[in-house]
Amino acid sequence: MGFLEPTKICKPGVFLLTKAVFSDKNMGNLVEPERIVPWMEKIAVYPGFFDPITNGHVDIILRGLRLFDKILVAVLKNPKKEALFSTKDRVAMIQEIFIRQPDIEVKAFDGLLVEFVRFVRRHKAKIVIRGLRAVSDFEYELQMALMNRQLDPEIETLYMMPSVHYSFLNSGVVKEVFSLGGSVTGLVPEIVEKKLREKLKQGRLSVGK
Ligand code: ADP
Repeated sequence: MGFLEPTKICKPGVFLLTKAVFSDKNMGNLVEPERIVPWMEKIAVYPGFFDPITNGHVDIILRGLRLFDKILVAVLKNPKKEALFSTKDRVAMIQEIFIRQPDIEVKAFDGLLVEFVRFVRRHKAKIVIRGLRAVSDFEYELQMALMNRQLDPEIETLYMMPSVHYSFLNSGVVKEVFSLGGSVTGLVPEIVEKKLREKLKQGRLSVGK
């Protein structure tokens, strides 16, 4: 005789059966465990530098949530690239923006993206999301996606187009416009605008940073 042992309720009415015993003295195992797991959380990793996060990034994260149960925003600590905001600040800003959304998690990482995805794969993540704004993004993104596939064929990269309002936007343009006295309202979340103002006051925001 067999029995199922539901160990966790994932979504209303759906059990993730992490322990299943379906055996019979004479027949052995009757059901393979994989077949009786009816629902698994789908997680995608969205990597980037986010220096700082813009509404273009936010747009991609929210679009991602239409396809996945959870988005893990992976903030790159890149010592080679000079950043205006520290890794801690970049992570904290994103966490604050999505404070009421438990389906968005933020983590910092360094080194190879595939290593990070392998690490979180324990939690069933093997999809990487990237944003494609214009043809100019394509060549670099193609190179990265194919290199990552070479390093780990299990990982797929999924490209999403932002709303047309953000297709010209990147973190560099935001910093440049703001440093020259231009308005970035509507292009970045409020918390980012506030932090940019602080940097400007501290004299830390100059063109090119
Ligand atoms: P950037 O300096 O270009 O913003 P990031 O490393 O922060 O670079 O970008 C992380 C990912 O987000 C990349 O896939 C990038 O193409 C995407 N992205 C950045 N800005 C936008 C935007 N305005 N709309 C859609 N995707 C974007």
